[in-house]
Amino acid sequence: MTLPEDGRPAAELLDRLAALRAADLPVRGGKVTAYVYDTGRDAVHDLAATAYGEMLEVNCLDPTAFPSIVALEREVVGAVAAELGGGTGVFTSGGTESIMLAVKAARDARPVAGRPQIVLPTTAHPAFHKAAHYLGMEAVPVDVDAGFRAVPASIAAALTPRTVLVVASAPSYPQGAMDPIPEIAAIASAAGVPCHVDACVGGWVLPWLRDAGRDVPPFDLSVPGVTSLSCDLHKYGYAPKGASVVLFADPALRRRAYFASAEWPGYTVINSGVQSSKSAGPLGAAWATLGAVGAAGYRDLAVRAMDSAERLIAGLPDGLRVLGDPVVPLVAVASDDPALDVFALADEARARGWFFQPQLSYRGIPANLHFTITGVSDTGALLGALADAAKAARAAGPPAVPDGLVDAIAALDLDTIDDAGFAELLASVGADPSGGGGMAIVNAVLDALPPATREGLLIRFLSALYA
Ligand SMILES: *Cc1c(COP(=O)(O)O)cnc(C)c1O
Repeated sequence: MTLPEDGRPAAELLDRLAALRAADLPVRGGKVTAYVYDTGRDAVHDLAATAYGEMLEVNCLDPTAFPSIVALEREVVGAVAAELGGGTGVFTSGGTESIMLAVKAARDARPVAGRPQIVLPTTAHPAFHKAAHYLGMEAVPVDVDAGFRAVPASIAAALTPRTVLVVASAPSYPQGAMDPIPEIAAIASAAGVPCHVDACVGGWVLPWLRDAGRDVPPFDLSVPGVTSLSCDLHKYGYAPKGASVVLFADPALRRRAYFASAEWPGYTVINSGVQSSKSAGPLGAAWATLGAVGAAGYRDLAVRAMDSAERLIAGLPDGLRVLGDPVVPLVAVASDDPALDVFALADEARARGWFFQPQLSYRGIPANLHFTITGVSDTGALLGALADAAKAARAAGPPAVPDGLVDAIAALDLDTIDDAGFAELLASVGADPSGGGGMAIVNAVLDALPPATREGLLIRFLSALYA
């Protein structure tokens, strides 16, 4: 599209949007077991959309001009804090921003000589690597145990005088494994270092599972030594995207997350988050979603999702097995059968209208498929699709990576190839990034390469996609 000289009729523009959306994966219904969270209650999502619209044009840039955002944020953060051990917080656009703020606060609270370090389990979310990258810090990854849980003694051994933050996950995303938070927080506290609990994905399921009588180990701000915690409302809070909360045990630490600037001749800038101008739509929608679902609703959704996850684990087709022992409805499934390739399985599922999220092998953890099970998930249909896709993937066999391709790609000087050249390379192996076809071979090639090479290729992939 080029910008039209005269504005187009609304109906024409909306038709075009609808046509584009037709190629997307469905955001409701439970056939996409990652990225989207469906309560199965349409009225909740419709209300969120209305509330989003109500707040859409309100600008969070100036909370004195729009006091509604202060009131709404206090209520949302207060509701989250009440379930997660107290504290004071900030409403952010997502887990990445919540983590960015916690990392910045820790860096600024405890200046060290040299490059500040974050000690984190290898299963921690890449948002910590991103924060380190953006904030001029160093991430120090520490291996996990056979159950994908952080090892307190290894965390202790990784601390240096430059450590400004210790991270643990409640739970980590890839296998839904719960780190031993009390032990890790005690180690951090003894060293005088803040400890962040990443409860982005688990923070709004674990309290409800505990309420419902499940065994949930201590993980929140009530644990001694935990200084901050992130909880995404756009995951198991079922709010539209753009909704997360970062909590701080100490208001002084929250202030370290803030930013103010009077270094220009314009309006004074006071930001609690990374963005400056931003829509209050996500805040209004998250507030409405929390209020509409309520504690009983979240308890019900959490229990239903966890029951579904357990049925999925119990019913896995032959040759597939769960990795670890997930404490929330996140299920990672690996293959024990060399004839059944998980990336091929994901492609077969996609062709049948399902999305199963591929996860590459990493530090001895096998390649696997990740299932985020939500309130709407129908395990019967999911297991049926999984069995069909597994059968087809076995029949098709593992992706046929041409001889020498991995070595050739590893040896490529990516700087000598432009986006068009990279797109040709993708096409030559049958991959169609925009339509989702042929991704098994892309994943198989990535899987055979070390992380740094994967990252270089992923950047090129993204660039080619948008070229
Ligand atoms: C999703 C997630 C994040 C990042 O959240 P975004 O909202 O995607 O930025 C961080 N940590 C964990 C454990 C997550 O599951």
